[in-house]
Amino acid sequence: MKRISIAIDGLSASGKSTLAQGLAKALNYIYIDTGAMYRAVTLFALREKLIDHDGNLNVSGMVEALPRVYLTFRFNPGSGRSEICLSGRNVEKEIRSHEVSRHVSVVARVPEVREKLVLAQRRMGEVGGVVMDGRDIGTVVLPEAEVKFFMTADLEARGRRRFDELVRRGRSVSLEAVQANLLERDQIDSTRDHSPLLQAEDAIVIDNSNLSIEEQFDHMMGCVQQVLHA
Ligand code: C5P
Repeated sequence: MKRISIAIDGLSASGKSTLAQGLAKALNYIYIDTGAMYRAVTLFALREKLIDHDGNLNVSGMVEALPRVYLTFRFNPGSGRSEICLSGRNVEKEIRSHEVSRHVSVVARVPEVREKLVLAQRRMGEVGGVVMDGRDIGTVVLPEAEVKFFMTADLEARGRRRFDELVRRGRSVSLEAVQANLLERDQIDSTRDHSPLLQAEDAIVIDNSNLSIEEQFDHMMGCVQQVLHA
């Protein structure tokens, strides 16, 4: 059976990674979380003090430091998925902090950051047999992907989901702060000049405000099977 590429883009906290991981597991494909890569660069910038207290990024410092940003994915048998490493150290937990979420979109709009990460993502995707999620996968990273999804949900559903996830991880943050962050990120991600968050023309839209994970999975898997058996 042919091994295709599946691109999943969409709004922040729209459930992309849950469904991408589910599809990858069912198809025995590799899952690539491109958001984790932008988050890891942001963690690097915070550690290097390239972001000040007001959230301003030292863009030239960031560009200069980019050659020192070394990202890899390593499979963790415990979680059953590939996790991101920065300079060889697993940073999967640190990159999910609210602090990283607050600054990631400002880092992700720097063209040089995107060029570096898009190149790495294309290399990982070119072999096929991948499910990749992000904001520009169907439009820029893998425009030839055989199946493209664009996921969306209303702000209330997305905010509640991300809030519950943070609470489960023991983080203390308010629902309002989470929703404000999602709105701000979507705004910056959609309006940046370089590869903005955009729905590919040939993407299948999934509004999951009122859909269970199982319903979404069945629908998406049906779309994938159609292509596989075409
Ligand atoms: O997917 P996640 O919410 O973890 O992504 C974090 C941020 O990384 C997004 O808000 C966006 O700014 C950036 N990102 C991006 N392009 C991608 C994936 C993520 O700009 N392909």
